[in-house]
Amino acid sequence: MNAEIIAVGSELLLGQIANTNAQFISARLAESGINVYHHSVVGDNEERLLQTLSHADKRSDLIIITGGLGPTKDDLTKETTADFLACGLSYDEESLKAIEQYFIQTGTTMTENNRKQALVLEDSTVFFNFHGMAPGMLKSSGDKSYLLLPGPPREMKPMLVDQVLPYLQHHKTENSSIHSKVMRFFGIGEADLESRIEDILSEQSNPTIAPLAEDGEVTLRVTARSSDLNEAEHLVDQMVRVIEDRVGDYCYGYDQNNLLQKLSLLLEHKKMTVSSAESLTGGLFSSELASIPGASNYLSGGITVYTDEAKKNVLGVEKDLLDQYGAVSRECAESMAQQIRIKFGSDVGISFTGVAGPGDYHGIAEGTVWIGVSLSSGYTASFTLTLKGDRNFKRISAVKYGIYSLIQ
Ligand code: ATP
Ligand code: MG
Repeated sequence: MNAEIIAVGSELLLGQIANTNAQFISARLAESGINVYHHSVVGDNEERLLQTLSHADKRSDLIIITGGLGPTKDDLTKETTADFLACGLSYDEESLKAIEQYFIQTGTTMTENNRKQALVLEDSTVFFNFHGMAPGMLKSSGDKSYLLLPGPPREMKPMLVDQVLPYLQHHKTENSSIHSKVMRFFGIGEADLESRIEDILSEQSNPTIAPLAEDGEVTLRVTARSSDLNEAEHLVDQMVRVIEDRVGDYCYGYDQNNLLQKLSLLLEHKKMTVSSAESLTGGLFSSELASIPGASNYLSGGITVYTDEAKKNVLGVEKDLLDQYGAVSRECAESMAQQIRIKFGSDVGISFTGVAGPGDYHGIAEGTVWIGVSLSSGYTASFTLTLKGDRNFKRISAVKYGIYSLIQ
């Protein structure tokens, strides 16, 4: 089955809002093994929507339209789709009751336009809107299916995830079982990774392999379909092993277990605590860790020491050391990691110091980073990186390298 997404709304074309609905729907469909081949955006205009529908009908099995289900004059998705499919509109009783109830409860007057929101394409499967008024619907027409979803993301997202996708999964006939696994890579760029498995990528059909790069991490989603779930799982496992043979050294985890998740599980499991002394990253490491529920079990705390004065006065890095080696050095990173571990009495101390740029700093090249790690056993180590990208990207990458070093 191949799908396409049509976002309806002049505000999208005017650049007033971004088409985040298409992104969200695409990502969820990809996870469900449904291929999306086209995205389009069309204004609140009947004629142009009809043209877009006619293109879509020729090339896609599932046509998803989001937006324009509301009460106002410019909301014309249902009427236009009904015209296009030459079908009628009728009231969905459950939605109509809910809308009437709303106006009774709020003591406001219900207009004909508000009733209009309960209209659905005849003989369609209706998805009740638990977060708004206009229901969604799925209408079959020949071998095509038309799915209409509300525009507001807070209404569309739960409807898609909680109602539509389970419905589609349940009603799929051939190759109805889908299994997928996400392989997570670090320390290798997307282009490098792809070039090492180029032949595998170009031959893929079942399983499919979808690469995604984000914030210095790369993932591959391996998805297989079969009439039998065990067979789908087997196909995925087989492909994962083939990929691991090539680039397994960079694969640190699977599925939901990203770097942060792995570190928190590890610290929790080993009952260890960590503290951070951050210059370059300005508190990003501790902030990332604190974003995980239960962080108080293993995050003792952290200090941002940005200037040399702060490194000396707040953290206790020696003046001589700073004078001799500078703040962006192995010596400083290791001292910072030791000092913070001792200050917080934690099992692990980690430090980040570097040149975010733009430009070099005191003769040290932009992108130079030192990360120090100190353990309560007395073991101290550090490593250096040369990072590319803008300031923020370097800071995020540094944090990820720091986490990566702790889970090794
Ligand atoms: P309403 O009942 O609110 O009128 P609707 O189904 O008619 O809902 P629209 O009128 O098209 O939807 O859009 C309502 C709001 O939803 C927009 O102003 C915008 O904030 C958001 N929205 C619509 N389409 C998208 C989209 N493709 N991506 C992100 N947000 C969107
Ligand atoms: Mg609207």
